[in-house]
Amino acid sequence: MARVYNFSAGPAVLPEEVLKEAADEMLDYKGTGMSVMEMSHRSAAYDAIIKEAEQDLRDLMDIPDNYKVLFLQGGASQQFAMIPMNLMKNGVADYIVTGQWAKKAYAEACKYGKAVKIASSEDKTFSYIPDCSDLPIDEDADYVYICENNTIYGTKYRELPNTKGKTLVADVSSCFLSEPVDVSRYGVIYGGVQKNIGPAGVVIVIIREDLIPEEVDKSVPTMLQYKVHADAQSLYNTPPAYGIYICGKVFKWLKKMGGLSEMKKRNEEKARILYDFLDSSSLFKGTVRKEDRSLMNVPFVTGDKELDAKFVAEAKAAGFENLKGHRTVGGMRASIYNAMPKEGVEKLVAFMKKFEEENGGKK
Ligand SMILES: *Cc1c(COP(=O)(O)O)cnc(C)c1O
Repeated sequence: MARVYNFSAGPAVLPEEVLKEAADEMLDYKGTGMSVMEMSHRSAAYDAIIKEAEQDLRDLMDIPDNYKVLFLQGGASQQFAMIPMNLMKNGVADYIVTGQWAKKAYAEACKYGKAVKIASSEDKTFSYIPDCSDLPIDEDADYVYICENNTIYGTKYRELPNTKGKTLVADVSSCFLSEPVDVSRYGVIYGGVQKNIGPAGVVIVIIREDLIPEEVDKSVPTMLQYKVHADAQSLYNTPPAYGIYICGKVFKWLKKMGGLSEMKKRNEEKARILYDFLDSSSLFKGTVRKEDRSLMNVPFVTGDKELDAKFVAEAKAAGFENLKGHRTVGGMRASIYNAMPKEGVEKLVAFMKKFEEENGGKK
């Protein structure tokens, strides 16, 4: 068995321990004689799995009691619609556009009401986070929307925007559980789990109870109403049962590792190794304004497309997978989520140094 160092942006690397445990339980989950994949979502065994997963997530993130935790389907992209459908009461929402995902969310919200782009970093290919200390927040805005970590461009908010009292909604798909957050500062935190938590097919929505509308427009499909899922504790219909089970295992792994403060420490350490090298390299350079750099997604270039392609190919041959940048950006991107060991980053940097020496970089 040869495991590679997988720098994919998502679906992405998962803790080996979790995969092994799941493999051990594949044919017989705790004496039930069946796989979790084959199990009724109404069974006692499954009920324990989903309840424990929720509790472990609550413990990890210190989620206040007045927030619901929902395990839903449709990916992060379905939330682009679900959020305006459920949260637009005045029919107005403000969007800060810092990348493709925020842009898509904004475009979707335009279908359901007046979505206002109050800031953007598109002028410089989304390579920075705009100043959000005094934005023209609409008086009627039902919420202010951000994508907190921009997976494609590798930027992250250092500080949350000043929403002037309005509800903050954040897509945290690619920074979920990478560091502690103060949940009470948000109205909604959501993310697809396939970046930093588990297998594709699950999206987790953490939503303050008072934001869940009793009634929505009758055109809103039942499956797209937060209340339906909240009332049924994520078991209105068959949930993505196996995916939730793996997420639960990752939550336990994170607890065992020391929780989110410890993850933050590790993630900072890993990111520093890579950024320090990029800052000193004569061949490679980072593409993001320094103060806005993500701890999770690190884009870089050589400045020469052919050399970029050569690097990606040679890296792949050496066991470093998925380093090609997003198709809309080019260059390279190393995603170094929670489950990427420090050793993987160290070895990547050693490989980059060697490549630099062999390809005209100064020694
Ligand atoms: C990947 C990603 C999405 C899209 O997720 P899907 O689950 O494929 O819909 C949205 N937002 C961010 C920040 C992402 O990284």
